[in-house]
Amino acid sequence: MNIISDTLVPARAPYSAVLKAGQIMRIIDLKSQQAVDALFYNATDTTERYSAQDTLAAQAAKGGRYDLTTGSALLSNEGRIMLKIIADTCGFHDTCAGACSCEANTVRFGHETRFMHSCRENFITELAKHGMSKRDLVSNVNFFMNVPIRPDGELTVDDGVSAPGGYVELRAEMDVLVLISNCPQVNNPCNGFTPTPIQIIISES
Ligand SMILES: [Zn+2]
Repeated sequence: MNIISDTLVPARAPYSAVLKAGQIMRIIDLKSQQAVDALFYNATDTTERYSAQDTLAAQAAKGGRYDLTTGSALLSNEGRIMLKIIADTCGFHDTCAGACSCEANTVRFGHETRFMHSCRENFITELAKHGMSKRDLVSNVNFFMNVPIRPDGELTVDDGVSAPGGYVELRAEMDVLVLISNCPQVNNPCNGFTPTPIQIIISES
């Protein structure tokens, strides 16, 4: 196994990298209970990007689940497999709840949260480095985020259950631009109310 990069992403910070087809990205929740928001784009044509809708519709068609874990294939808006989850110590990752934003914080938690940092701002910062803008924000994955969906369809953000050092591994099936927001949210329990650093290792065999 050849390590391409090994990065400590500080609490609340964004990150991006290009994964070549066949390369593996390991995201490590160093301290536990840290939500890691992620977006994926075809690195050579960013109009093709991750689609939560296509991914979950394909899983549902196979009688599958509404969250992601080992064996899940992450599909693009063109129905092609972008990445596969090949290892997972957590057991589930949300792709329904979206990313936190100043606007959503204001609605959920009160106007005084309007100026708190959010995943949407991290994504817009990182998108700009790759020639994109907020028009290119689409549905995302929330690694390590615990979002149970009740039988009546109600969705809640519960305490994270990932343990210190827990990780998820994805193998790129095409060249993929990965954007990450190490979630800064402190108004709900998705980060245990204390955002912490994560580690991202990219490797190839
Ligand atoms: Zn967030």
